[in-house]
Amino acid sequence: MKIVIADDSSVTRKIIIKMLRASGINNEILKADNGKTAMELVEANCKDIGLVLSDCNMPLMSGIEFIGAMAKNPQTANIPILIISSDGAVENIKQAYIVNSNVMGYLIKPVTPSQLKEKIGALLD
Ligand SMILES: [Mg+2]
Repeated sequence: MKIVIADDSSVTRKIIIKMLRASGINNEILKADNGKTAMELVEANCKDIGLVLSDCNMPLMSGIEFIGAMAKNPQTANIPILIISSDGAVENIKQAYIVNSNVMGYLIKPVTPSQLKEKIGALLD
């Protein structure tokens, strides 16, 4: 199964990918730098996507809007999601879980390799 990483920071995308690879996760990774591109990727590959990792603050379409759009499309509504955001505001965290019931976790940046491994290991098993 493929993993989608949506984050507008190329540095963050690289760090997350490095952490995944270091944890032995060798799944194909699709990258997006905004929510709109991420939604297009998820729709085009819906049958092959096992997990979406998404930032919240992104241009064009935010992470919350992106995962809300995923929830509205029956083809993408059941894909597990992990939010990785620097926005630790309780309201934003609540919103993520409200707009998509497949949000399995919300990690606040900076994320450690062990946090990521723990969350993702459980999701990909
Ligand atoms: Mg961002």
